[in-house]
Amino acid sequence: MLKGKVAVVTGGTRGIGFETVRQFLLNGAKVALCGSREETVVKAVDKLKTENAAFEVEGFFPNLSKEVEVAQMMAAVKAKYGKIDILVNNAGISSSTPLLNYTEDEFDKISNLNIKSVFVCSKAVVPYLKETKGVILNTSSMVSMYGQPTGVMYPASKFAVNGMTLSLSRELAPLGIRVNAVAPGITETDMVSALPKEVIEPLIKTIPLGRIGKPVDIANAFVFLASDMASYITGDILHVDGDARS
Ligand code: NAD
Repeated sequence: MLKGKVAVVTGGTRGIGFETVRQFLLNGAKVALCGSREETVVKAVDKLKTENAAFEVEGFFPNLSKEVEVAQMMAAVKAKYGKIDILVNNAGISSSTPLLNYTEDEFDKISNLNIKSVFVCSKAVVPYLKETKGVILNTSSMVSMYGQPTGVMYPASKFAVNGMTLSLSRELAPLGIRVNAVAPGITETDMVSALPKEVIEPLIKTIPLGRIGKPVDIANAFVFLASDMASYITGDILHVDGDARS
């Protein structure tokens, strides 16, 4: 579905991002895999190359909230692969700190990665996507619908992701660039295994499809939205959550 496409995926070292890189490669794309640290990026790239030595994947670890570093990475991807068709803004962190314990540092950390990096990466990639009539895909969350009991900035950051998705889709449509988001429900990754069992088990009981999501469930939605099969879809937030909103 992505034969010949070139993709940049942030937060690609584990969880949803790693599986998205893997599914993109299996579907014929070449991928720039981004992570926060050289060590984890090298490990993730090695794991993929061990699975299939023919996978065309290269690792990067820019600070995603710094325009200069991200611009250098995009230029390096273009130099290596000749173009960029797809950006997946997936890197993100969550927390459930109650308001009165919430520090300014935590506020800055969450908003820098979950909001600012989406802005910085999107801005840096547009000159390339203009040439390919490409696509920006953001990672929202089911909590962007109705918030969460504590940890105010995580859902707030995903409301911002939805806002950027809806606004940029309108701003960039005249350039032929599509902008969509995938809003995962609870998905089996490190982010979720960090939560106590007492929190997760009752949540799973509320999911109509009766199970937690797997990273591949989310990756498949990214593959579809990145592909030409979705060429008339923009400004959409696709919920992949077993209907956990109902
Ligand atoms: P994860 O913790 O397994 O992986 C997070 C990824 O982000 C890693 O690749 C990590 O390298 C990267 N990252 C973390 N801090 C970074 C930083 N400072 N700079 C650059 N990269 C950094 O998380 P996940 O569960 O796979 O989540 C991926 C995305 O999906 C996030 O945006 C998250 O908010 C969203 N999401 C996850 C769930 C879920 O239940 N797991 C649900 C809804 C939305």
